[in-house]
Amino acid sequence: MAPESGVRIKGMVEASFVDWDGNIVCTLFLPGCNFRCGFCFNHELVLAPEGLEDVPLEYVREYLRANRDFLDGVCITGGEPTLHGIQELCRMVKELGLGVKLDTNGSNPEVVASLIDSGLVDFVAMDVKAPFDDGSYSLVSGVEVRAERLRRCAELIASRVEHEFRTTVVPGVHTPEVVEDIARALAELGARKYVLQKFIPELAMSEELRRLKPMRDEEMDALVEVAGRYIDVVRWRGR
Ligand code: SF4
Repeated sequence: MAPESGVRIKGMVEASFVDWDGNIVCTLFLPGCNFRCGFCFNHELVLAPEGLEDVPLEYVREYLRANRDFLDGVCITGGEPTLHGIQELCRMVKELGLGVKLDTNGSNPEVVASLIDSGLVDFVAMDVKAPFDDGSYSLVSGVEVRAERLRRCAELIASRVEHEFRTTVVPGVHTPEVVEDIARALAELGARKYVLQKFIPELAMSEELRRLKPMRDEEMDALVEVAGRYIDVVRWRGR
């Protein structure tokens, strides 16, 4: 079945070894986002997607069809993919015999629940940017956020689908105490995997954050140790 005409694809990595642990995937980038995180490294996709060329769906479909023996699945990322009607895109991928991994900021729990319940996603990675309170979350995500919706999304992901939760750790923002708060909250929701991502200053949306230095490896190790007290599988990325 053809994906809805409303779904625009603004970028494609034909074969990625890093977007779904243990799998080789084709990664598709969808435009736009309802958050404005200062550390976002995809800001062109978020702020000015109209300047990026569309990748034709027909091209994507034919690429996937020709490479479905080599690929394990497709990673649908953004931006925020749940802002678009991605059901038919997921269905197209599944009909080719490939798995679907969804990246989300967790702001659309109803959409995520529907995708999981329809069997259209196999793995969901949700960013958890701050402890689940409105003030902390709004500060980090750059927009006013109702943290209860994000907590609800994390809860349904933790209980219904293979998953990972992840936090991009920004120096001075994600202190050991903050990471501990997030890990504790995720553990209470049943999270089984938590990944800390090293912040890359030179790619940040915020000019102010571009002046920061990323955390050192030893600091990342220490954060993993803190979060590992609560969740079985914890690691960091960005070496
Ligand atoms: S939610 Fe993700 S894509 Fe959206 S602004 Fe934040 S980091 Fe960027």
